[in-house]
Amino acid sequence: MEKIDILSLGLQELQDEIVKFGEKKFRAKQIFQWLHVKRVFDFDKMTDISVQLRARLKENFCVNRLFVQKRLESSIDNTVKYLYRLSDGNFVETVLMEYSYGFSLCVSTQVGCKMGCRFCASAIAGFVRDLSPSEILMQIYETEKNSGVKISGLVLMGIGEPLDNYDNVLKFLELLSSKDGNNFSLRHVSLSTCGIVPKIYELAKLKLGLTLCISLHSSENSARSEIMPVNRAYNIQELLEACRRYIAETGRRITFEYAVIDGVNSSDADADRLSDLLRGINCHVNLIPVNKVKERSYSTAANAVSAFAARLGKRGINATVRRTLGSDIEAACGQLRRDAAKK
Ligand code: SAH
Repeated sequence: MEKIDILSLGLQELQDEIVKFGEKKFRAKQIFQWLHVKRVFDFDKMTDISVQLRARLKENFCVNRLFVQKRLESSIDNTVKYLYRLSDGNFVETVLMEYSYGFSLCVSTQVGCKMGCRFCASAIAGFVRDLSPSEILMQIYETEKNSGVKISGLVLMGIGEPLDNYDNVLKFLELLSSKDGNNFSLRHVSLSTCGIVPKIYELAKLKLGLTLCISLHSSENSARSEIMPVNRAYNIQELLEACRRYIAETGRRITFEYAVIDGVNSSDADADRLSDLLRGINCHVNLIPVNKVKERSYSTAANAVSAFAARLGKRGINATVRRTLGSDIEAACGQLRRDAAKK
């Protein structure tokens, strides 16, 4: 019999399992707190649980740890990038970043990605599988343990498309925010999507309080379809309609991500078209200089990002330029895994 991945179970599900052993329900809460609050993953160390129940737990459940395969520390800022090896030998990346308000963690949601964005290193190594809720959660637990740092912000912007692993990502968010566990406020979570429209409508209904980030990267359908194949399934107009609905349902402002790429989306006309598109939408634009991916020739000219920001600003669109962190350690998502997978 295959063992159950205990860290992917919500408290209710764990209770259902524990009751099957003829145990009292409150035992589940004790175990849940050992795992998610004390972060003790060895059943033998759960000292307020009977020896019999501990044996039962060992027989029926497993904890899938992550192993640090590589740890790169930036010498420019305090960014630390982890390449984690999963229990089946696959790799994912997690990036710890320091901001003035505290530490933020960027986690992966899939091994690889199906979306095929042209400028993204994650697309190059291909898609392998979804991460389980526990594998997303363990990126936080293992990184906090390894670094000794407490994370105050979380971004789902690592490898993978979170809305293409919708159920597991939602379960992860439930575990993360559980009152009996981490009690982490979803107000401090950002979820980034390339624009899987039906899932944006589903997410809107849940009113989770997280910040939705949309990887827009172009204001014109033909150009966007070139660099982001997902645009052929859900075009810009359908995407923005879903965003309007998301804002109306949740009352939350949306962030649009836009990597300014020479010869692709960086002209004055691009900025003007973008400001026309976004006018009236409660949003914020995050401009990003494109991260160099060695298989691709995309680049951003020296002053292109600030010029683009200024042009948007003049037309009343609120835009900020994202700081580049960890540029010396290939902190852009997917680059380490791609290299590890090649070997
Ligand atoms: N799949 C999700 C989240 C992962 S990528 C999404 O598409 O949003 C996180 C962000 O980094 C996205 O906005 C993505 O478009 C952007 N990105 C990927 N590769 C990049 C690169 N080489 N330069 C700049 N931004 C990049």
